[in-house]
Amino acid sequence: MTPAARIRILPEETVNRVAAGEVVERPAAALKELIENSIDAGAANLAVDLERAGKGLIRVVDDGAGMSHDDLLLALERHATSKILAVEDLSRVATFGFRGEALPSIAAVSRLRIESRARGAGEGTRLVADGGRIVRVEPCGCPEGTAIEARDLFHTVPARLKFLRSDATELGHCLQVASRLALACPQLGVTVRHGGRELLRLAPAADAGARLRGYLDREFVSGLLPVRGSSGPLAVSGFVSRPGAGRPGADYQQLFVNARPVRDAVVAQELRETFRDLFRQDPAGCSYFLWISIPPEAVDVNVHPTKREVRFRDPGAVRSLVAEGVREALRLDRSAAIPTAAFQPSGASAPRVTFPALGTSAAPPAAPLPAEVREAGGYAAMSQPPLPLPAEERGRPAVAAANQLFGTYLVCVEPGGLVLVDQHAAHERILYERFLARAAGGLSQRMLEPLLIELTPAEESAAETARPVLESLGVSLEPFGPRSWRVVSLPPELDAAAAAPFIRESLAAALEGGAAPRVEEFRHRAAALLACHAAIRANRRLAPDETAALIADLARTGNPGACPHGRPTSITIDRAEIERRFKRT
Ligand code: ADP
Ligand code: MG
Repeated sequence: MTPAARIRILPEETVNRVAAGEVVERPAAALKELIENSIDAGAANLAVDLERAGKGLIRVVDDGAGMSHDDLLLALERHATSKILAVEDLSRVATFGFRGEALPSIAAVSRLRIESRARGAGEGTRLVADGGRIVRVEPCGCPEGTAIEARDLFHTVPARLKFLRSDATELGHCLQVASRLALACPQLGVTVRHGGRELLRLAPAADAGARLRGYLDREFVSGLLPVRGSSGPLAVSGFVSRPGAGRPGADYQQLFVNARPVRDAVVAQELRETFRDLFRQDPAGCSYFLWISIPPEAVDVNVHPTKREVRFRDPGAVRSLVAEGVREALRLDRSAAIPTAAFQPSGASAPRVTFPALGTSAAPPAAPLPAEVREAGGYAAMSQPPLPLPAEERGRPAVAAANQLFGTYLVCVEPGGLVLVDQHAAHERILYERFLARAAGGLSQRMLEPLLIELTPAEESAAETARPVLESLGVSLEPFGPRSWRVVSLPPELDAAAAAPFIRESLAAALEGGAAPRVEEFRHRAAALLACHAAIRANRRLAPDETAALIADLARTGNPGACPHGRPTSITIDRAEIERRFKRT
């Protein structure tokens, strides 16, 4: 028999290590907490130094309000905060911090050294701690403000170290965190160095637009459209990309709520739908930088351990504010507002305008079917009836010459029934297997025209891990200048215009994902992305020999049933289904 378990209260040190698991799961998370504290302390400038992607050292030096000797001692205590006093304050938090958890959590898993001098104080205080235990506290000479150094992150919890990814990936996350907070607070001057090398320098900027111009390349930023809108106490401002001019990846899709960088499923979903509706384009490739301002009591910031998510009291109001702001920005954009035949009021909402002509990768919308064709289930919309198989082919798992339906599906007649093949999904499957099978760099073509691509610091860091993999798929790039990279060669299947979006998406994919570097997994992911960018699009007319070749190639793949993302490549309408529709049974 199991004796009754004894319940004990965990010692403070253990509690802090447990909590550290939630608050600081990786170096970038610790860096985020430290920068947020500096901003909360009213810093005008901060300097970040990293070693070994933050695992060796994270140092944040600010010129903010500083801490007195007594406050500094308190700051390492759990739930010690200067930012809220009572539970009511939680409904109107105006600072990044409010829980008093970050410093004790970081202290619990690192060797910490803090030097701080309160504004106007004669001298500063130095505090040294190891694994959460204060080792030394002494007066020191230091400038006003605070310098915090966390060394040997996770040395007290080695299990966590195993879950970290390559230095380049962890550094990429640190750079994303620093740039996101720099965008959230344009007035802040920020530098980030890694191993002494300066990777990011942003001078204090007047406003968000100026900050964006300092952070991203000018050409891209000058092509963005301003967004502005309000409804009662809610307001949104910022920028969106024009159709076809966006970039994929977290660096290019940013949302701030009352200057706090957040991920919000509701708003992200609304933006995806708006972009899909307006551009007929994959919303992953649309960029936005939006600042929502909302009364603090209308949003709960206390719903997530790292405060990356928020909860709106009225999500619907925020949704429509954002959607309307984005629509309006595009309506006002004269160059984009070329009315097209596709202008169609949809449902009860405002008229929706599409701009198919402008997007380079936006496929033109399929022409609406005439009523009589629609009634016929779309079948009559085919240019020609499907060709039956030659008699000698019957009975074989054969592939027939195909006709295109809606410019997108190949209609084949097989012994099993009528088969519709999605030309894009089928081509993706073919290319995916071809890219993976191809020997490293085997068939790439050198670029005749130089192709340059500007990367953000986080993307550059990701490029370090991604490059060898991309090279094995035939895409090679080399550093060309500050933040600028040159695409040297591409596989013959990929159009040069698709190179930059593909590279950005794969860099974003290299940063994403969970623990431990999994190169093989990334190679498959990148091959699938490459296949997607290189595959023929929907709404492209194919010549009869092209359709025949596509179907024959598909049949030869290892997994002809699904595209690399798991979508079916074909559907079969079998005899039973056909007979049922004709009411023969
Ligand atoms: P929180 O930010 O939730 O209050 P933290 O653990 O991050 O909790 O910080 C605890 C306290 O330490 C803060 O409330 C603040 O008073 C003080 N503090 C931390 N970092 C700084 C800094 N860079 N400058 C001034 N005060 C700081
Ligand atoms: Mg804090």
